[in-house]
Amino acid sequence: MESILVLTHADETGSTLTKASLEAVTAGKDLAARRGALLAIGMVAQNSAAAAATLNSSSARLLAVSGEAFAQPRYASDAAACEAVFRAAQATFVLAPESSRFARVMAGVAHRLGGCIDTHVTAISGAENVEATRWFYRQRVEAGLTRAARPWFLLLEPGTHAAFAGQPGEAQVEQVAVELPAPRTTVTGMRAPLANEQTIRPDAKLLFVAGAGWTKKQPDGQVHAKEAGELILGFLNASGASLGSSKSLVDQGSDGQPVLPFLTHLNQVGQTGATPRHAKGLATCCHGEEPHVVGWRFIGERRAISLDPNCGWTRGKADVVYVADAFQVMRRVNELLELKKQLPAPSS
Ligand SMILES: Cc1cc2nc3c(=O)[nH]c(=O)nc-3n(C[C@H](O)[C@H](O)[C@H](O)COP(=O)(O)OP(=O)(O)OC[C@H]3O[C@@H](n4cnc5c(N)ncnc54)[C@H](O)[C@@H]3O)c2cc1C
Repeated sequence: MESILVLTHADETGSTLTKASLEAVTAGKDLAARRGALLAIGMVAQNSAAAAATLNSSSARLLAVSGEAFAQPRYASDAAACEAVFRAAQATFVLAPESSRFARVMAGVAHRLGGCIDTHVTAISGAENVEATRWFYRQRVEAGLTRAARPWFLLLEPGTHAAFAGQPGEAQVEQVAVELPAPRTTVTGMRAPLANEQTIRPDAKLLFVAGAGWTKKQPDGQVHAKEAGELILGFLNASGASLGSSKSLVDQGSDGQPVLPFLTHLNQVGQTGATPRHAKGLATCCHGEEPHVVGWRFIGERRAISLDPNCGWTRGKADVVYVADAFQVMRRVNELLELKKQLPAPSS
């Protein structure tokens, strides 16, 4: 019987599968059901017994590579792990999350196994003839891809499927032996910004976008960059929103103009920036020009605050536009969020 393999990996705790991995499980279950195939789920985790608990009710064959060697992402060990799991499962389709850990190794793994790979996949449809969907040219063109070659590896964009959420419990896991090459890479530690300095939050419900207006002269003839920074960070801390930026704002640093120190080009949304996925988005002090708005393709409900009643947002690019001063609006919003924090928790 045909077998479909979903490759997953644990997060930095080593014992919990990432959300993107659980989304790939959902896609794998759907595909296996449509094709009447067996589903196998492979785990790369330091502690696979704990990681497998969430998959207990998945009705899939569970395979794992476990141990200290898989606590850290590393090309040689991760590629060897994925290859070994594949050889145990002998699948025709391999689905995996497009995380930085797997994006780095999966093309190499597909090549070693004589398969082919497509990346940035957002949907998989069909049963007899399977079609993978992805976007090209900065999400302007959507393509449906089919291939005769097997195994076909598909890396799934995070945020495109619901995460598998079954009843957790002790699961039966087959441990797969991996022959590891002599390690040439030693992971000596992680350097990451503090959680409250980390402004890009892919799992946040809301994307808050700051535009160049925050550091431009305001109606009083002055620039208020310091206050802008405080208002934006205050809102991010209170709401847990992710921070995006227009290109103009992040470019200003190199132009010698006032800057917001916590913004980098990684925050930039748009044609030459990111295309994040969030349920809602709020653009502030931003004009809503096409090269920026093209990055909003996967934002559900869009709102904008701009002083300009003729900005791009008012021309069909947002669901709601507040023609208002973003300093005033965000100051009031932050006050309300602060008040809300002080309210007693609702009794159940
Ligand atoms: C090839 C190419 C690729 C590009 N790629 C990208 C990209 O990836 N991402 C991107 O963002 N841009 C990109 N751009 C640039 C894009 O065209 C715009 O120049 C840019 O998005 C403008 O940024 P902005 O809206 O923040 O600034 P501005 O155009 O300067 O707009 C600032 C806005 O803030 C408003 N404002 C000022 N003060 C206030 C206030 N107190 N309250 C409310 N509103 C206020 C103003 O009315 C104005 O509408 C690209 C351009 C090209 C040519």
